[in-house]
Amino acid sequence: MKSRAPQLFEAAARAWRTLLAASLLAGLGACTTQSVTSGGTPIDTSLTAQGQDSRAMFLILHYTVANLPQSLKILTGPRVSVHYVLSDETPPRIFRLVDESQRAWHSGASAWKGHRLLNASSIGIEIVHPGFKLGPDKQRIYLPFPQTQMDALVPLVRDIVARHQIKPERILGHGEVTPSYKEDPGPTFPWKLLADRGVTPPWPDATQVGLLKAYYEAQLPDATWFQERLAQHGYAVERTGTWDKQSERVMMNFQMRYRPADYGGQPDAECAALLHVLTKPTAAPLNGRTSSTGLY
Ligand SMILES: [Zn+2]
Repeated sequence: MKSRAPQLFEAAARAWRTLLAASLLAGLGACTTQSVTSGGTPIDTSLTAQGQDSRAMFLILHYTVANLPQSLKILTGPRVSVHYVLSDETPPRIFRLVDESQRAWHSGASAWKGHRLLNASSIGIEIVHPGFKLGPDKQRIYLPFPQTQMDALVPLVRDIVARHQIKPERILGHGEVTPSYKEDPGPTFPWKLLADRGVTPPWPDATQVGLLKAYYEAQLPDATWFQERLAQHGYAVERTGTWDKQSERVMMNFQMRYRPADYGGQPDAECAALLHVLTKPTAAPLNGRTSSTGLY
């Protein structure tokens, strides 16, 4: 008895150590292999790559034309969808219809700076807004956006772009990325307000635009120049060298954002000046001189 007790104790201690080691290994296994394929192969998720970012690179703004109940019905149906709907109520409500990690179907055959089919790489916001009404001569009269709605939109945009690190220059209107048949959010959308609040890039400097406008009034660039500059800014426009329908649609959307007082789609000196500043934002003001090196 005297010699057997230590042996039993040793055996019990060995068994306990073995059990402890096995459970630790099992526990470690549970940490490093968190899932298994349907074929039984484990997937180890213990490592994370530094080289990754959000799939959302663009934020696209729309207006619905339809009222809130109709918009929600359409946007929860099988054909089109969007991540967020901003209501026109007071105070506004925000509906999230599609999780930000999922693709929503809102931007169609869109393109910007060589990126195409932006549904896969964008977050969409539909603003409940009628767009326009028809005047006595059947002309479109675009309606203003309520301030309360814009005050709700700005923080929502800020939150989304912060979460996904979306660049300010990639906050765009539907018409800008699909100019051939869209023009929302239209010429009354307060793009300058978004710029002034630091959400989108700084608004083109008025003094610089004024100087350049005077220069371009004396010598209006040709269609190729405008097409090149519009494409450089980001619009999908063909360089045909003639002011055709597609150029007009792109210019109309450009004007709706940057020069909403006249969005007829024709090139003019003010648009040349705006495009000059937007595509060459670091260019020094001309100081009244018409330098051949400063303008191209
Ligand atoms: Zn739209």
